[in-house]
Amino acid sequence: MKKFVASIRNIFESYSYFMKLQWRLDPMGIFLVILPRIFSTLNAFVVVIFPGLILDSLVEDRRERAVSFIVAFALWEFLNACIEALFTKYSNVHQEIFSARLNHMLVEKTTTLRQEQLEHPKVFEQYELARKCGEENSISGYLGDTVSIVFGLAELWGYLYLLREMPLWVLGFLVAVVAIHVAAERRIDKNTMEESELDTPMERMLGYLNYQLMDPEYGKEIRMFDLKGFLTEKQAHVREEYYVLFRKYGKSRVRAVGLTNMAGSILSLVFYASAILRFAMGALTVGAFTVTVNAMFRFSEGVRNVASLAVGYQMKAERLSHVRTFLDMTSTHTGTEEAEGFERGMTIEFVHVSYRYPGSENYALEDVSLRIGCGEKISIVGPNGAGKSTFIGLMLGLYRPTSGKILYNGRDIEDLDYDSYKKLFAVLPQDYQIFGFSILENILFREEPSEAETAAAMESLDKAGLKEVVEKLPRQERTYLTQQFDPEGVALSGGEAQKLAIARTLNRDSAIFILDEPTAALSPRSEHDIYQRFAQVTEGKTVFLISHRLSGSRLCGRILVFQAGRLVEDGSHEALMQDGLLYAEMYAKQAEWYT
Ligand code: ADP
Repeated sequence: MKKFVASIRNIFESYSYFMKLQWRLDPMGIFLVILPRIFSTLNAFVVVIFPGLILDSLVEDRRERAVSFIVAFALWEFLNACIEALFTKYSNVHQEIFSARLNHMLVEKTTTLRQEQLEHPKVFEQYELARKCGEENSISGYLGDTVSIVFGLAELWGYLYLLREMPLWVLGFLVAVVAIHVAAERRIDKNTMEESELDTPMERMLGYLNYQLMDPEYGKEIRMFDLKGFLTEKQAHVREEYYVLFRKYGKSRVRAVGLTNMAGSILSLVFYASAILRFAMGALTVGAFTVTVNAMFRFSEGVRNVASLAVGYQMKAERLSHVRTFLDMTSTHTGTEEAEGFERGMTIEFVHVSYRYPGSENYALEDVSLRIGCGEKISIVGPNGAGKSTFIGLMLGLYRPTSGKILYNGRDIEDLDYDSYKKLFAVLPQDYQIFGFSILENILFREEPSEAETAAAMESLDKAGLKEVVEKLPRQERTYLTQQFDPEGVALSGGEAQKLAIARTLNRDSAIFILDEPTAALSPRSEHDIYQRFAQVTEGKTVFLISHRLSGSRLCGRILVFQAGRLVEDGSHEALMQDGLLYAEMYAKQAEWYT
């Protein structure tokens, strides 16, 4: 009983939530769903009643009356068909509008959540389920279902009136068939839900294999490593798993559908038998016979429809609750205090900070304490998996310390408004992306920048050492970085792309620069050149440099060495060389490679 009440409550809450959402996203859609239902309900009665009236007029030899009924009937049907076509056209458009706006909301939500939340497997799954609901249009169908149930009940009431003299035993049959139908429908719905949850990861993999890997970016690997066989095999394997699932659930669905169809056929027999019996006994005229049989079939169909809609309601409510759960998720960035600019005398401090990724047993970073002043140039080094990226992620507020605190000028960064805190940083990630837009757009992310913004972007290109290259391009800074959208588009080399990413970072007027392997794609000569430029443009700013090439770290006044999640060394190049520990060892090894 408790479960039943909870499920009714969930249905009610989900639907009222979505009515509000629909009203907010596309109010017109509501009218476009309600109006056609009004017409189709009226039509249902016209279709049942008119043939009876026509037949009776003919039997009574009142031909003129019969002709006027036929003409009225034809006119109504024509009008109804036009209205239906019109509504179908507009309501389809509005369904798309609603789905598109909802998808936009879902994507927007992902950007407000903390990175750590999004990386959490459960949250990601919730997002996928919510997105799937949006795509399947199952959400926009909820309103139609609600209206269909209300009008369906009105229709049933009307048929009951027409069938008020129906014998009770026929009604008994009807109830039994509806019960079978509802049970089968519940089974089918449960089945579909289960299948959808199981096939989501498979669909994800198939989508990846079928579409993402078609991206020319993967082309070289696919050809050079001759991955055709490997990928086809993988595809066949996932598809086979998918078919097994499909067959398993398909079989059980076919059984359920077969059962209801059989019960439906028996019910038809019962209907005809009872109407013929009453006609033979003289209780029905020819017209009344037609109306009764029609009404019986429509009534039984109506009951089945309403019943399956009601059953589907529960399933849809469950789906809607995925969307609701995701949209209602609140970001763990809850701070409200404005973060002031990072200026001389200010500090960022890690106080016994430890971090464990969600679902992971080990600490990625353990008990790290340090203080960073404004204007410091800091190199972060350490073997792979030592915790360097995690350290940066924590400082950027992407992750929240499992224990300990990060203080910005004495205040816990968790209390700061995240948008204002985020602005302090300009990050050049290791896996930066170059977008298929123009060079200028790749730096400014604006369609129509002002003159001042363009000039600043050009200066950044100059500082990153890319200006000369850009000036030689067909459309200079407005050249597209792909030929997909512009035949004059170009592709940058690895080194040029990295310089563009550097220009993008430099263009942000931030106090703290974080450069993750900024010179990996550059030759030693360009590397030296870039470091010189960095030194110029980042004067007075704080810089974190993550680099495997320790030549870069020499240029930094302070070096942090991480190992197995711990900060094991902290000092200048000279001091750490003298200590003769991990850094000195790593430096000596690399020096061997370069001499
Ligand atoms: P580094 O940047 O020094 O290579 P990371 O900070 O990326 O090291 O990783 C530190 C540890 O945390 C590693 O053991 C790594 O496997 C683990 N780790 C990194 N990212 C995740 C993640 N998203 N989920 C679980 N573990 C992670």
